[in-house]
Amino acid sequence: MTQNSNTEIRKMLDRLRVMMAEDAAGQTRLNRITQLIALEMISEVCSIYLFLDDDTLELCASEGLNPEAVHKTRLKLSEGLVGRVARTSQVINTNDAFGTRGFQYKPETGEDPFKSFLGVPIQRLGETLGVLTVQSKDARIYTEREVQDIQIVAMVIAEMTELGAFVTDNAAMSARHQQPALFNATSAQEGAAAGHVWLHNPRVIVTNPIASDPTAELERLSKAIRELRVGVDKILSIATPDDKEQLEVLEAYRMFASSKGWVLRMEDGISRGLSAEAAVEMEQSNARTRMSKVTDPYLRDRLHDLDDLSNRLLRILTGQGTRPWEEMPKDPVLVSGNIGPAELLDYGRKLKGIVLEEGSVGSHATIVARALAIPLVVRAEQITTEAQNGDYILVDGDRGVVHLRPDDAVSYAFRDKMAMQEKARERYDSIRDKPAITLCGHRINLYMNAGLMADLPSLEKSGAEGVGLFRSELQFLTRNRMPKRSDLSEIYARVLNAAKGRRVIFRTLDIGSDKVLPYLKWADEPNPALGWRAIRLGLDRPGVLRMQIQALMRAAAGRPLTIMFPFIAQREEFAAARKEVDKALERERILGHPLPENLEVGAMLETPSIAFSPDKFYKEVDFISIGGNDLKQFFFAADRQNELVRRRYDTLNVSFLRFISSIVSRCEKHGTPLSFCGEDAGRPVEAACFAAMGLRALSMRPASIGPVKSILQRIHLSELREIIDKANTQGHQSVRPAVMEYLQGRF
Ligand code: PEP
Ligand code: MG
Repeated sequence: MTQNSNTEIRKMLDRLRVMMAEDAAGQTRLNRITQLIALEMISEVCSIYLFLDDDTLELCASEGLNPEAVHKTRLKLSEGLVGRVARTSQVINTNDAFGTRGFQYKPETGEDPFKSFLGVPIQRLGETLGVLTVQSKDARIYTEREVQDIQIVAMVIAEMTELGAFVTDNAAMSARHQQPALFNATSAQEGAAAGHVWLHNPRVIVTNPIASDPTAELERLSKAIRELRVGVDKILSIATPDDKEQLEVLEAYRMFASSKGWVLRMEDGISRGLSAEAAVEMEQSNARTRMSKVTDPYLRDRLHDLDDLSNRLLRILTGQGTRPWEEMPKDPVLVSGNIGPAELLDYGRKLKGIVLEEGSVGSHATIVARALAIPLVVRAEQITTEAQNGDYILVDGDRGVVHLRPDDAVSYAFRDKMAMQEKARERYDSIRDKPAITLCGHRINLYMNAGLMADLPSLEKSGAEGVGLFRSELQFLTRNRMPKRSDLSEIYARVLNAAKGRRVIFRTLDIGSDKVLPYLKWADEPNPALGWRAIRLGLDRPGVLRMQIQALMRAAAGRPLTIMFPFIAQREEFAAARKEVDKALERERILGHPLPENLEVGAMLETPSIAFSPDKFYKEVDFISIGGNDLKQFFFAADRQNELVRRRYDTLNVSFLRFISSIVSRCEKHGTPLSFCGEDAGRPVEAACFAAMGLRALSMRPASIGPVKSILQRIHLSELREIIDKANTQGHQSVRPAVMEYLQGRF
């Protein structure tokens, strides 16, 4: 690209810069911009449309269209060529506007005589703020150069919009990021939180998008790229050769940082009149648009890398974004696109709430947030572009709703909800050291689920009688590579130390399905939930299972030990897994290591098949724990990961309860201890019903122990059982309405 060919756009941007420096009202500025562009593009019309709300664009300024139409003409995203540009983020360049798909005639604008139409999105970092159009009477296709020029101008307009350059009383042009915004997303961890936004990756604000001296800007860019490369090399030199995964990622970074195409695209932006930072941002914006269309996970990751590099470069150029921890608000609510488990653990319990744009109910970040009991909402679309650091934010983790910059009425209602939660918490604290005994004198043992070191303090705080499910895979999921036996043994020993003699049920590695280890990836499976997972993998590739069992025995160092195998679907699987334990015991004996004082080996009941297994299974196992999350998904054939069906069937469905009751009966018959450790055990109403069906041990998230205990202390199991049986005889689908009526009478 020659300097000369860029003279026109540079002149246009120069005029734009002078115009922006003038003291003028927002509307006047917009009008002048449209006049300037129409003149420079030798077109009769130039118009700017901005979003009024998520679905509506408003004509905010125009040179050439009927002035009466300004702030009157509105288009839905589904309407017209302008709507199509905004919807698809793609340029429309046609010499026959009337004949182009999607054209919609708006008589009030007086656009009849204009045959040509060029529309480009006004975009900033992948977010569309509006549409810039030029139209002309003669039937012409705008040249590629003209299209590129107008895209640059659109980008500068986006930057200026972000800076509030066009603020007026009009809603479409009022300052962005000031109005309340509501996000209907997905709940990943219950609880309510109010606080102030802390952006994990804060946006860099470009205050000088246009520059008059391209040589100086090119020098700034090249200096910043050098600094960036040195930084990446430095991280690479520190990374240990064992950190294979990390090294691979960093090598990819280095490759991008040296990519000629990337640098050339940014240099081209500068030669057209942009400042170095605006050129970086334009390239980043284009990459984000590409990213939104890519579905291949590998390519998406690479584009994420590129996005991250651009962020680093912007921080170097502007000096923004290197924030010390002290700047964090007292009540931080983390807002991010996504976040890795290790980064989240760094923040730890400081966070009041977390809102992610991506993520899922089973993602690593979710696992950590749940362990830390921090309300978490995932899939809050566009939250990172809407939220600004310090914005007031309310997170309703129960319903998956987020209120950003809420108005007073919403804040008051939310405050009431939080006050009620606080009162309830005080009540739960007061019964923490009391046992869960029902009014009819039945004692229910309440255990907690755990998996991270971060969970351990909850053993004391929650009043749990022990750990009913230690999800050992979390230690594997939060690492980049397979942990060593000695690492595991140390971790398990710390868990046992923290338990101070209370029982801990260690579940062996449960991976596969939604829990994928990056360093132990196998071929894609058509139905991973029904695939090669958990004990199936453990038995087929016994190396890891053996290592884990040995680590557990070393950690126990003579203390009692409880091991549980996940996803046992037939008796033989349990027998084979138990054989591994026996072999490990023998090995430890030969090696002279202390053997567990008492060893219990149990199975998780997560598939209907094992409930119907021969009596021998019930006699062989030392205990059974119902993994209700999986059991329910297989009972109803409803994927627990699929938002469309995961709530479709009620746990209190009479068929499911009858199934639970039959498992209880079989266990009672054979004297097999039984517990329930799926998420439903932590839901008070469900927990009460399980107790009524005969379950005497429940394992749940620590935060659920108080609420469950509180309800158990107020009920008669026989009364509740009668209600359940009656609803069943009457042929109801779910016993929930009848149970709720009974429970409401007890409070
Ligand atoms: C379950 O399936 O209920 C269970 C406790 O295991 P996970 O949720 O870890 O699959
Ligand atoms: Mg399970």
